[in-house]
Amino acid sequence: MAFEGLTERLQNAISKLKRKGKISESDVKEVMREIRLALLEADVNFKVVKDFVKKVRVRAVGVEVLESLTPAQQIVKIVNEELVKVMGEKESPLNKAPKIPTIIMMVGLQGAGKTTTAGKLALKLKNEQKARPILIAADVYRPAAIDQLQILGQNIDVPVFSLGTDVNPVEIVRQGLAEAKEKKNDYIIIDTAGRLQIDEKLMDELHQIKELAQPNEILLTVDAMTGQNAVEVAEGFNSQLDVTGVVLTKLDGDTRGGAALSIRAITNKPIKFVGQGEKMTDLDVFYPERMASRILGMGDMLTLIEKAQRDFDQKKAEDMAEKMRENSFDFNDFLDQMEQVQKMGPMEDVIKMIPGMANNPALKNINVDPKDIERTKAIVYSMTLKEREDPELLNPSRRRRIAAGSGRPVQEVNRMIKQFKQMRDMMRKMSNGNFSGMEGLLGD
Ligand code: GDP
Repeated sequence: MAFEGLTERLQNAISKLKRKGKISESDVKEVMREIRLALLEADVNFKVVKDFVKKVRVRAVGVEVLESLTPAQQIVKIVNEELVKVMGEKESPLNKAPKIPTIIMMVGLQGAGKTTTAGKLALKLKNEQKARPILIAADVYRPAAIDQLQILGQNIDVPVFSLGTDVNPVEIVRQGLAEAKEKKNDYIIIDTAGRLQIDEKLMDELHQIKELAQPNEILLTVDAMTGQNAVEVAEGFNSQLDVTGVVLTKLDGDTRGGAALSIRAITNKPIKFVGQGEKMTDLDVFYPERMASRILGMGDMLTLIEKAQRDFDQKKAEDMAEKMRENSFDFNDFLDQMEQVQKMGPMEDVIKMIPGMANNPALKNINVDPKDIERTKAIVYSMTLKEREDPELLNPSRRRRIAAGSGRPVQEVNRMIKQFKQMRDMMRKMSNGNFSGMEGLLGD
């Protein structure tokens, strides 16, 4: 999970102040030393770290004593605000042409996630704005990039313009633009060629495409996992092409966070989107405030809620709530629900977005094995339709049959049925407005 080390170190640094009634200058100095080390270790650019620490220190020393906040809380507040500032304060929306089409040029090094992001962006525009995007396949150098884009296009039902790999990319773009004009597409997304590193030939080609297409947006895709290197790449592309925004990919991985915190300050260009997975729906608007609270381990409820809204079927969720109230929630609903939860991605990532959960020691090594869900599903699948609708039918002999059918021990079947009943009871209480019993779930 991204930022894990940074979150832990920042929390440790600040927790040392927890019991202090007043903070002295030397306390501030000590905390700042730790924050500085935490940031450097997370691969944040050293200039950014220096500037950040200076700003926090000045504010922390001069801090007014507020009765409502403890010193530790005040430092958290200052660090949080400065993190938000360093990442650009507010989200930065996609540029839009005054009249259609809006032209977006995707640039980046090979492997950064450019082609994938082009597809994700097209889907996002289609879903959220009812747009009619077209993708232009101009990456003629990476083997299979064009095929990849065509398959993505098919999956998300977005047209892809391609002339194969033997045509000059500038010519592909010229013809692609003409086609888009004819078809009246409102967004044109150009997937340009990447290289292993920035070189003159690549920049020449990108300059020519930029000149020809006059894009409203030049989105640079960089891989968050590459840390400082991502920042260098961003600087390189930006100085040559004057990009308009950055997409930081692979933030679902084990990145230490340096790129997210450095890119804006070093390039003065906003991070507009973050890629948080390999699925086509895993592209999110970059919100500095939410990212700061995630880094500080305060959770990211808003993103979680949006994720749930996007991935959950609203109608099904309402039906489910109704069933819980009526106490008619059965194993078929349970199956449905497991499938919906699986769509949201790895459980441990979802759980960590809940405030207080990110660093909850009880969840330190949580690892929800997707196989557990599959095993549970296998047990349910081994029930007859009648049994699924009426769990009370499940007597010992039926349970033995289900165990044999699913290839799981009978104890596991028993445990699963018991948990199902407990969950059903808890949900019924909650849906009737009774939240007692939930406190334990929320950490401190
Ligand atoms: P390109 O050479 O820049 O066009 O790179 P691709 O789009 O082919 O991406 C390279 C690899 O990174 C592929 O395996 C993608 O599935 C993967 N990838 C792209 N974005 C993300 C992301 O946000 N998260 C994860 N986990 N993988 C990603």
